[in-house]
Amino acid sequence: MPGRTVSFHPDDRYAAFLRTIPEAPFGEGRLAGVPVAVKDNISTAGIETTCASRILEGYVPPFDATVVERLKRAGAAIVGKTNMDEFGMGTTTENSAFWPTLNPADPSRVPGGSSGGSAAAVAAGLVPLALGTDTGGSIRCPAAFCGIVGLKPTYGRVSRYGLIAYANSLEQIGPMAKTVTDASLLMEVIAGHDPRDSTSRDCPYHHTPDPEIRGLRIGVPEEFFGEGVDARVASVVWDAISLLERKGAEVITCRMPSMAYALAAYYVTCTSEASSNLARFDGVRYGPPADTKKPWHEAFQERRREGFGEEVRRRIMLGTFALSSGYYGKYYAKAQAARNNVRADFERLFCDVDVLAGPTMPTVAFRFGEKSDPLSMYLSDILTVPANLAGVPAISVPCGKVEGLPVGLQVMGRWMEDERVVDVAYAFEQGRSA
Ligand code: GLN
Repeated sequence: MPGRTVSFHPDDRYAAFLRTIPEAPFGEGRLAGVPVAVKDNISTAGIETTCASRILEGYVPPFDATVVERLKRAGAAIVGKTNMDEFGMGTTTENSAFWPTLNPADPSRVPGGSSGGSAAAVAAGLVPLALGTDTGGSIRCPAAFCGIVGLKPTYGRVSRYGLIAYANSLEQIGPMAKTVTDASLLMEVIAGHDPRDSTSRDCPYHHTPDPEIRGLRIGVPEEFFGEGVDARVASVVWDAISLLERKGAEVITCRMPSMAYALAAYYVTCTSEASSNLARFDGVRYGPPADTKKPWHEAFQERRREGFGEEVRRRIMLGTFALSSGYYGKYYAKAQAARNNVRADFERLFCDVDVLAGPTMPTVAFRFGEKSDPLSMYLSDILTVPANLAGVPAISVPCGKVEGLPVGLQVMGRWMEDERVVDVAYAFEQGRSA
C-alpha cells in the first residue's frame, strides 16, 4: 500500500503499535522529548490514521487533532499509532482489522480494548504516556487488564476535534500512564477549551495530585458487585476500598437501580450514532480497491462489505434498525429515557457521596477467543458504560492481582470533578506503596 509505513518499535513484541515513527521530532515544553503513543483513531497530520479498519487504509490526515497539536506544543515526541478494536468497537483489541495486541501481563491474554495498543505500549514500558479514547470503557478496561492507570475525563473537558467519531455523545480522549501523577500531567496538556469542538467546555485542568482524603465520602453501589463480577476480583477491590477507609474516607453502601438498563441504553445509543457516523466511509479514496466498472451502488456495497469487519457491520445494522422509522420510539427514544435515569441516579447519589468506587471490569483479562459471542463481550462493559452515559469522570487505577493478572479499582466523580477522582486514585496508589 503506497504511503503505508509498517515498522515496529524494536521491542514491540506485544504488537501494540500499528506503525511507529522513527526519529519522531520533538520540541521544547513540559513534555520535551517524552515519547507518547497515540491511538489510531486520533488524526495525526502526515501520518496514516486507520482506526484499525481496512476502509481507512492509506488515509493520511492533512491536519492534527487538537490533542495532538497540544502534545506537539508541549514538546512531546509522537512515536507511533497504537492498535485498537476497529473504530473502537470492542473490549479486547481482537477486532482490529490488522492483528491482535497481546497483554504484557500475560501474552496468552487480551490487553482489553478498545485502546489495547496504548495500554500494552505503556505496560510494556515502550512509552511512559499514551492517549486512548473511551466511549464505553475503552481507556479504563485496557488500563485495568494491563495494570496501568487510565482516565476518562468529564465529557467536554478534552477536545474531540480530529477524533474519528464512533459515538460522539459518549466519547472522550484521555490519558493512560503507569502512575496517577503521569496520567494527571498528560491530562494537563490535553485538556481545555477548543472552539473547534462545540461540546468542549472552558474548564482547563491544572492540578497536582493530593493524597489527602480525610472526610471524603465514597459511595459503593451494591450493583457494582452484582451478577457476573468474579468473587476474587470483588475481594481485591473491597480490600482497596478498605485501604481508602483507613486513610480517613467514609465508605457508604448505596444503590444504583438504573444499572439494570445502562448496558442496553449504551448499546442502542452507540450503535445508532455509529450507523450515522460510519455512513461517510464509501471506500472511494481509501480502503480496498473496488471494481470501478460496476454500477456505483454495487461498488459502494462491495467496498463497505470488504472494508468493514464483522463487528462493525453488525453494529451499523443494529444502529440503522434502531433508528429506522417505526422502531425509533421503541429503541432509540427508550434508550435516551434510560440514559436520563442513569444521569439522575448519579445526581442523586452525588448529593450524599463525593465519589463512587467499585471494580473497573467484572473479571481479569480474558484468553484470546474466550468471548466468542458478541453478547457476552458486551456484558463485560457493564461497569464502565454508566460514566459515559452520564458524562462524568472515571479513572481506573491498578489495585492488586488475581492469579498474577491485574485488577483495576474504578473511581467515578461528579461532573467536572476530574481532579477529585485523580486524587482518590493517587491516595490509593500512595497508600498501597507505603
Ligand atoms: N467495549 C465498548 C464498545 O464496544 C466500549 C468501546 C469504547 O469505549 N470505544 O462499544
